[in-house]
Amino acid sequence: MASDLRLTVLGSATPYPAAGNPCSGYLVSGGGARVWVDAGSGTLGALQRYARLDELDAVWISHLHADHTADLLTAYYGLLYADVHREAPLPLYGPPGIADRVAAFLTHGDRRSPVERAFDVRELSDGHGARVGGLDLSAREVAHGMPAFALRVEHAGNSLVYSGDSAPCAALTELADGCGTLLCEADGDSADGVHHSPEEAGETAAAAGAGRLIVTHVGRAIEPGDAVTRAASRFAGPVAYAAPGAVFPVD
Ligand SMILES: [Zn+2]
Repeated sequence: MASDLRLTVLGSATPYPAAGNPCSGYLVSGGGARVWVDAGSGTLGALQRYARLDELDAVWISHLHADHTADLLTAYYGLLYADVHREAPLPLYGPPGIADRVAAFLTHGDRRSPVERAFDVRELSDGHGARVGGLDLSAREVAHGMPAFALRVEHAGNSLVYSGDSAPCAALTELADGCGTLLCEADGDSADGVHHSPEEAGETAAAAGAGRLIVTHVGRAIEPGDAVTRAASRFAGPVAYAAPGAVFPVD
């Protein structure tokens, strides 16, 4: 079966959305499945250029920082109180505690908001695997100073790995081993223990033997073009920037 694995960038800004660029969020599609990967501020709007909430097969959240999760809150309203009609709650993969975290924000009275009516919550752990439609998802816990996960998506021999937010770490390099495309954050200017610098993103791509590197979550102090140049100084393969609206076929 030919692979139609594809990455669409909904947004890549951090730590707050820019004009024209939401925070972290991606649509990963292939094998008839659509997965909303990270739900940063503004990504739910951008998502609807491609898919409605009732057309999604799953949401996958790397970690609970607001620039990766904030739009779960309004997605909850959409799923329960608007024009979205699903036969079952939307599968939501995320770090342990994600349901209570979302509910804590959404609850305004004595009764806890029924987050589980909107989302079928499935907590991630190191080595977690799931099949969503024709996509195989696997997760490793990575280094971000809090529970945080990277994602590998496989379809028909093609593979995409997303770092989430992470410093360079063995788990990420192992997860990305031999992948076709590595979508790696490049937030920091220097090694800070919780993020990659652009150079480190290049080094992780090289160590993993990735076919291609896409830098994302580029910090505000760094021009995207400079992030690409700096990453490419450590990685011989092609390097691109995760511009909002960009679509990358993964082969
Ligand atoms: Zn983070």
